[in-house]
Amino acid sequence: MAGDRILVVDDEESVAVTMQAILEMDGYDVMTALSGSEAGELIRGGGEFDLVLTDLRLEDADGLQIIQEVRKRSPDTISIILTGYASLDSAVNALREGAYDYLVKPCDVEELRATVSRALERRRLGQQLRQRLGELEQANETISALNADLQRRVDAATAELRGNLERLTELDRLKSQFMSIASHELKTPVTAMSGFLQIALRRMRKRLDAGGRPGDDWQGEQKAIAGQLEVVHRQTEKLARLIDELLDVSRIQSGRVEFHLQEMDVTALVAEVVERMQTANPAREIRLAKSTALPITADRDHLEQVLNNLIANAIKYSPDGGPVEVAVRKADGGAAVSVTDHGIGIPAEELEKIFGVFYRSPDRRARDVGGMGLGLYISKEIVDRHGGDLIVESTPGKGSTFTMKLPRRAITDHAQLTSPEPAAAAR
Ligand code: ADP
Repeated sequence: MAGDRILVVDDEESVAVTMQAILEMDGYDVMTALSGSEAGELIRGGGEFDLVLTDLRLEDADGLQIIQEVRKRSPDTISIILTGYASLDSAVNALREGAYDYLVKPCDVEELRATVSRALERRRLGQQLRQRLGELEQANETISALNADLQRRVDAATAELRGNLERLTELDRLKSQFMSIASHELKTPVTAMSGFLQIALRRMRKRLDAGGRPGDDWQGEQKAIAGQLEVVHRQTEKLARLIDELLDVSRIQSGRVEFHLQEMDVTALVAEVVERMQTANPAREIRLAKSTALPITADRDHLEQVLNNLIANAIKYSPDGGPVEVAVRKADGGAAVSVTDHGIGIPAEELEKIFGVFYRSPDRRARDVGGMGLGLYISKEIVDRHGGDLIVESTPGKGSTFTMKLPRRAITDHAQLTSPEPAAAAR
């Protein structure tokens, strides 16, 4: 191609100059060297040639050496050997050493032009091939990278599916657990209510049938009936509590819990709850450690629910009695309320689980007292949504302490608490 750089090396000046003239007419950029050393200087001097035409036998050098030197500097350079008949053998040898072709001197002009043009074409094809190979290699690398990425995505999707499957299995397990716990827990008060109502009704009928003769213990009869209705009333309350718990869980899981934050005094709230619990459980001692006012911003009703649950559990799970100790203190700028009992305690391996939905300890002493395993789940959810923490420390056989830690100001606001996305479990 016109503009290609050619070096002609021959110690016969007339040959070199003639070739230069012929090739320049074809538009090549041609330099000549009249000895091996001159050629060496040109090559080492940074001359980059596309093609070198060299006599095989120079006075001061071997043409092969020149070819080698050129290839060392630029491996793409193509070379043609010039030779007389006498050295054809060496020309063949030169081909073996990497020369592209040879011309026998004195050479025909057309043959020279054709050979040079073919050699340069060959060089270009070689370069193109190498370039394509490079491109192919790069494409290959890109494909490998894409493949690896694809594999990563497949792995991630598989892991997600596996996770979903595990969650579904867990949900299924919870559902069955819920069915058995809920039906048992709901059935118990209903059976009791029904029994007591029947007795009360029978008594009243009997009395009505008898028609109220003098001497009847009318008042005693009324008292007995009132006693039975009292029991029914208590069972109704228990049933309502259980239903409320179920509704709470459903609200939590569908993100429908509404929180109304207000500035309030935790100490006052705790005192109020303790007093009410003490009245409802006169046989148990509920101790409240003295504390000064502790203002925080929180949802009062929901905190009351947590306290009720913690104190009720402390009573429920210490069947042998012992005081329940409640304390309020300032902590990390907010408040910490702890409820301690001296009851059955909780084994270490269950400490994490008890906050799970529907979790009930397999321990017989825990099973004997009723419950659906929802109280702590609901409580933890409430405290968490205040930006607080509900933690437990416990020693089996000695007792437990549940501590509710609350920040000075609940970090959430109402808008964040009503999440529109229903949890899977609630569907
Ligand atoms: P419930 O009391 O209705 O079963 P909770 O969610 O309140 O549900 O408690 C879950 C479980 O944690 C209980 O079944 C019980 O095994 C254990 N637990 C909770 N509080 C205490 C406590 N103070 N002492 C010992 N175990 C407790």
